[in-house]
Amino acid sequence: MRTESSYDVIIAGLGAMGSAAAFHLARRGVRVLGLDRYKPPHTLGSSHGDSRIIREAYFEHPVYVPMVRRAFELWHELERASGTSLLIQTGGLMIGRPESELVAGARRSAQAHGLPHDLLSASDVRARFPMFNPEPDMAAVWEPRAGVLFPEACISATLAQAQESGAALRFDEPVQDWTIDADSVRVSTARGEYRARQLIVTAGAWVASLLPTLDLPFQIERQVLHWFDAAGDAELFAADRCPIHLWQIDGRRFFYGLPDMGSGVKAAFHHAGQVTTVEEVCREVAPGEVESIRSILRRFLPGADGPLRASVVCVYTNTPDEHFWIDRHPDHPQVLIASPCSGHGFKFAPVIGEILADMVQKKPPRFDLQLFRRR
Ligand SMILES: Cc1cc2nc3c(=O)[nH]c(=O)nc-3n(C[C@H](O)[C@H](O)[C@H](O)COP(=O)(O)OP(=O)(O)OC[C@H]3O[C@@H](n4cnc5c(N)ncnc54)[C@H](O)[C@@H]3O)c2cc1C
Repeated sequence: MRTESSYDVIIAGLGAMGSAAAFHLARRGVRVLGLDRYKPPHTLGSSHGDSRIIREAYFEHPVYVPMVRRAFELWHELERASGTSLLIQTGGLMIGRPESELVAGARRSAQAHGLPHDLLSASDVRARFPMFNPEPDMAAVWEPRAGVLFPEACISATLAQAQESGAALRFDEPVQDWTIDADSVRVSTARGEYRARQLIVTAGAWVASLLPTLDLPFQIERQVLHWFDAAGDAELFAADRCPIHLWQIDGRRFFYGLPDMGSGVKAAFHHAGQVTTVEEVCREVAPGEVESIRSILRRFLPGADGPLRASVVCVYTNTPDEHFWIDRHPDHPQVLIASPCSGHGFKFAPVIGEILADMVQKKPPRFDLQLFRRR
């Protein structure tokens, strides 16, 4: 028998963004129902793989810096509330030609917001961080505050806090459809119908399936993460010696790496993956894909070119300009959307949850969100 229950807000998708929205709304006393097609954290979306980078000298645009500062505060708050360690500070290096988007962009953000940072030459990098082998014409921005988040623990802690604050969470119950009905939104699943005054769509790589009337220019991009044993001195890659690092090489190729926190040294390309769909994405990793990242390790981190431990497939949901999409539905203002985060959204999850809670409550925005509107 189908049931119908009523809430202030329904959230479709309880991954990184949706769990945070559920928590921020519930703790403000808003009656929230969160629905997910699986039971997050899971390995089928965009939020798995043990670790995510958090960095502050944001090469993509200075507008992100106040948001990442707030995200740091909220992650630490969540650590205290949950009694769980969710991030570690390693410092971060953005390495490339001085005029590259990565290095010039990181400097621009650091200077615009007065962030502590150093500009290093290639030989400075080699002296301070002997695990890295930049080319002689490369430079690097060093920022001390960057580090690593543990995404599965972050989502578990956020969902637990949301539930403790009163959110109703239902797993393995995908939203099939929603319709506008007078001044409410009616949401259907295989198990029932629910009503709310507002709906938040945070379905990540599935977002387009819940917005069928919109012609969305987003692309789902397959990404492969790899973990390697060190080839030589493993101590060099420990988290107290090895910072998170992003590289721009050979023009517009990006890769990044994280220290060994027990699973091996992590390395992956950023973008340049196959465009696919979340239903059809190939989750097998071909030997050529391992070889491709190995050739990068040999050039820039030769000491990490040891035996492969694991490779995992994950997906990005990209907007054309690689910024985020946080906005109201163009035809239905009671529907909020926050999903495509173009492969760099995890660090912002709690601040995006807070932004969504403010939007639901029609509070003035705390940040400049113009870059994230799609109209
Ligand atoms: C390989 C990789 C590396 C990355 N590295 C970084 C990094 O270092 N730093 C960083 O900040 N960001 C990084 N990102 C980006 C970041 O991880 C993502 O932006 C973020 O995790 C996306 O969160 P989300 O909530 O949009 O999606 P998800 O966490 O995937 O959540 C979407 C949820 O919606 C649910 N869902 C789907 N359809 C429905 C439906 N019909 N009904 C109900 N629920 C539904 C899904 O089950 C899922 O749980 C990386 C991403 C990838 C893939």
